[in-house]
Amino acid sequence: MDCCAHEGPGGGDARFDFQKVADGVHVAVAAPAYKVNCNTAIIENDDGLMVVDTHSKPSAAKVIVERLRQMSSKPVRYVVNTHFHWDHWHGNEVYPQAYPHAEIVTNDITREAMVKKGLKRIQDHVRQVPAEIKKLEADVAAARGDARTRLENDLRLARAYLDEVTGLKPALPTLAFERTMKLYRRDREIQLLHLGRAHTEGDVFVYLPKEKVVITGDAMIGWTPYMGDGYPEDWVGTLDRLAALDFTHIIMGHGDPCGREWLTVFRGYVHAMVEGVRREVAAGATLDEVKQRVPAALAGTYEKPFSKYGDYRPWRTGILANIERTYAMVS
Ligand SMILES: [Zn+2]
Repeated sequence: MDCCAHEGPGGGDARFDFQKVADGVHVAVAAPAYKVNCNTAIIENDDGLMVVDTHSKPSAAKVIVERLRQMSSKPVRYVVNTHFHWDHWHGNEVYPQAYPHAEIVTNDITREAMVKKGLKRIQDHVRQVPAEIKKLEADVAAARGDARTRLENDLRLARAYLDEVTGLKPALPTLAFERTMKLYRRDREIQLLHLGRAHTEGDVFVYLPKEKVVITGDAMIGWTPYMGDGYPEDWVGTLDRLAALDFTHIIMGHGDPCGREWLTVFRGYVHAMVEGVRREVAAGATLDEVKQRVPAALAGTYEKPFSKYGDYRPWRTGILANIERTYAMVS
C-alpha cells in the first residue's frame, strides 16, 4: 500500500491511496480534498486497462495516469463514468490525450445528463468560483495562526480549480449503452449495469462476477449519501437489485473499499430515512418537525457509522439535506 504518495501537479489537492482489491483490480482511494475527488477503480485486462471515474479536475486524472504508467505498459482502453456529477467526469479529457484509442463509456441516461446538465454546471462553476475566492480572500485577511494557513491553502486550491474549470475541454462519452454492456476479455468478464435510479437517474455499476467485485459510483459511499439529484424512494430497490449479485468486495465512489456489511448499513440508512420522512408527512408534520424527529430517531443506529470522515462530510448536515430532498418528493 502506498499511502497518498502522489500529489497533483502544481501541488493540487489530488492525493490517492492505491489498494489492491483482487488480481488485476486496484482502487485509487481519494484523500479528502478541497474540491472533492472521487475514487478511481483500475482493472487490468490482457489487452489494456479500464478505469472507472475521473475526478473533479484534469490535474487529478493526471496523477492517476502518471501512476498507471508506472504500473503497466498497457494503454487505457476504456474510461467508465458512473454518473454525470462533476467530481466523476471533469478529468475525462486527460485519457484520450494520453491514450488516443481510449473510449469513454457510460449509459444513454448518464450521457444525456452530462449533455443537458453537466455541461451547464461547468459554466455555473466558472461563474460561481470567483465569489468563493473573494470570500476566502476576506476570510484569510481576518484570520490568524493555523486557521489562516488553512484558509490560505484553500484559497490557493480554489484559484487553481477556477483555472482548471475555466480551461476544461469536456470529453463526453464516446460509447453509450442502454441497460447492460458486457466485455469478455481473455481472463475476465466485465459487466456495466444500470439497476435503476438511486444517486442519479443513470447510475452505472461495474461488476466483475469472477472476482466478485462491484464498483458502485456514488450509489454507495463511505459517508452520508448526497441526494440532491437523487431518487430516495427508488434507491433501496436499486440497492436490493445490487445485493442480488454475487460479490464480496465493494469499491465505492468515495471512501475505502468495503464488504457487504456496509451495503446492509447503507441500505438500512436510506430505507429508514425515507420511511421516517414518509411516516411523518403522512401524520401531517411540517418540514421543520421532520428535520427534528427523523435525525433524532436514526442517530442511535446511523450517526456513528456515517461519521467516519468527521468534519469533512458531517452526518447531520447530510441527513438534513437528505430529509429536505425526500420531503420535497413525497409531500
Ligand atoms: Zn461523487
